[in-house]
Amino acid sequence: EHQQSTLISLVVPVFNEQDSIGRFVESLREVFNPLAPSVACQIVFVNDGSQDATEFAIRTVMQKDERIALINLSRNFGKDSAMCAGLEHAQGDAVIPMDVDLQDAPEVIPDMIRKWRNGAKVVNARRIDRSKDSWAKQMSATAFYKVFNALSEHSIPSNVGDFRLLDRQVVDVVRTLGERSRFNKSLFSWVGFETAEVTFERPERAAGTS
Ligand code: UDP
Ligand code: MG
Repeated sequence: EHQQSTLISLVVPVFNEQDSIGRFVESLREVFNPLAPSVACQIVFVNDGSQDATEFAIRTVMQKDERIALINLSRNFGKDSAMCAGLEHAQGDAVIPMDVDLQDAPEVIPDMIRKWRNGAKVVNARRIDRSKDSWAKQMSATAFYKVFNALSEHSIPSNVGDFRLLDRQVVDVVRTLGERSRFNKSLFSWVGFETAEVTFERPERAAGTS
């Protein structure tokens, strides 16, 4: 008998990333092919006003793969706004916001899915190694979490970015929040829910520039 498969949506904001699109799609295929047919994936690219050939690169991969969708923004709105547009479109039973430059290591996705299936509603991906970051980035990141968590009533986990798995229920709660100016990773944590964690070493950017 035909078994309904679980759909995972990857929400991927992209800004001037023409050299990353093909490689990203290829890596995701490698991760999801072994999980079929019980798990299927959808890739929602949000083109955040790119001025290079990003849109063309996405349309090229879309032609051969109906699991890929494109939201084209009218200008550059910034990553958090682009991600919101993607969260509105994503149809998955779970949603994973991801960077396109492969710094959010796709190899940890099967682990995230496992922990979600074991009951977690949110699965954070925590970086365990920042040595690939510049000294300035390491210092500013450490300072950021210290200051943010000292000032904020609700602290956010350090070394966890947007890269995490969100159950459909969590996505729908986040979508009801009224904030217009978004800092998504604090909202993802503010809404609560049973949370698990996977760890990964964040690699260097595969192509393009930060
Ligand atoms: N991005 C975006 N809009 C922007 C800036 C970045 O959609 O205005 C995307 C970018 O294409 C990438 C992700 O957000 O997929 C993370 O950006 P980046 O890798 O430059 O950030 P870093 O890893 O250097 O912190
Ligand atoms: Mg990056």
